[in-house]
Amino acid sequence: MQAPSPDLVTRSLSAVWHPCTQMKHHERIPLLPIARARGAYLYDAAGRRYLDGISSWWVNLFGHAHPDINAAVADQLGTLAHVMLAGCTHEPAVMLAERLSALTGGTLGHAFFASDGASAVEIALKMSFHFWRNHGHAAKRDFVCIDNGYHGETLGALAVTDVALFRDAYGPLLRHAHRVPSPDARLAAPGESAADVAARALAEVARLFEARATHIAAIIVEPLVQCAGGMAMHDPSYLRGLRELCDRHGVHLVADEIAVGFGRTGTFFAHEQAGIRPDFLCLSKGISGGYLPLSVVLSTDAIHDAFYADEIARGFLHSHSYTGNPLACRAALATLDLFVRTDAIARNRVRFDALERALGNLASHPDVAHLRRRGAILAFDVAERGRPGQGGFAQRYARHALAAGALLRPIGRTVYLMPPYILDDEQIVQLASATIAALEKTLSE
Ligand SMILES: *Cc1c(COP(=O)(O)O)cnc(C)c1O
Repeated sequence: MQAPSPDLVTRSLSAVWHPCTQMKHHERIPLLPIARARGAYLYDAAGRRYLDGISSWWVNLFGHAHPDINAAVADQLGTLAHVMLAGCTHEPAVMLAERLSALTGGTLGHAFFASDGASAVEIALKMSFHFWRNHGHAAKRDFVCIDNGYHGETLGALAVTDVALFRDAYGPLLRHAHRVPSPDARLAAPGESAADVAARALAEVARLFEARATHIAAIIVEPLVQCAGGMAMHDPSYLRGLRELCDRHGVHLVADEIAVGFGRTGTFFAHEQAGIRPDFLCLSKGISGGYLPLSVVLSTDAIHDAFYADEIARGFLHSHSYTGNPLACRAALATLDLFVRTDAIARNRVRFDALERALGNLASHPDVAHLRRRGAILAFDVAERGRPGQGGFAQRYARHALAAGALLRPIGRTVYLMPPYILDDEQIVQLASATIAALEKTLSE
């Protein structure tokens, strides 16, 4: 293979505007040129390897260059790379819709495809509003979101997002949304349980719905883990409570499982742990195994039927050019096959127990708080006591993690591990050691 151009980084910084990045910071923070990837590892231009501890932004499930997914996509390439999904259909989209529906016990049987997570959120919000309008309740046009929640960067999704850094600059462009308290278990007062925090948070939702439900279309929630908000975890009773309140007040429940779906929380879908079903389920990220952009909104018969009519304007006239792309759908089907073939959900229980154990007594480290885990997501907060003015924790930690051979990207002072579902015993130890080594290095600067 030809060696990568030595000045790839320089060329990238001049030609590529990188996402979620203040470009000037790359004057001091090196950009990592990745030449190839296989299994759990990314390889840089110099051939150094990094264990992908965050699944390349939470998308990769079964490792890079997986032979099964490669073969499925290659096969599809020779058959049908793309065709529009308006007026046409194809086997991969139909099969994927059927299999996702089956995974919801047939309760969410209508799949509306898009390409990115944020577009799925836009679709769910528009569909909810339009559902109520088609039923003669056009006043139901408000959305409710949760403190510290994240739903994507487009204007509609950002309007229901509560991460100040992403949102504040665009405040004047965003439609108002109601915000209710987060059920984040870390907010527990002494003697309070995670369920108590959830009950307190639910009381606020109840108050809002009682006052305002005739104007509220939907509430949007990240079930069990608010990921971008710092891996904030909550008790499943919160979701049960939301379901009850939504039923009582005629409000849609939108479950944004873009990050937490596909086994991340220990069940295939996170909402299963609460024994409920949402009205809308948004999926993306892991759906294609980390191969191709694909998202989908699953909804109920009741939602779908509200649009089914002779008048075109009662229909849902939303679209994206690459909606239901066959290559992406084939990657998704191969990914679903891997869940079955590798018994991933059950095997992950053992694998992530081992990862937690490999972190040893990290929980009792004087600078570590709230070591927590939900399924395949592990996180802890770092205090950096005695060095309050240090700043830039996430960037410093990430640099030390790379030096220790792992790609990790803390969110603020929260370090988290969300690796693909393929780590063997040796890789588990390697990831845990890199996590601890990077912490010690960062704290001793
Ligand atoms: C990543 C994410 C999104 C946005 O998905 P994109 O593909 O980045 O647009 C929405 N919601 C949640 C919970 C996410 O984690």
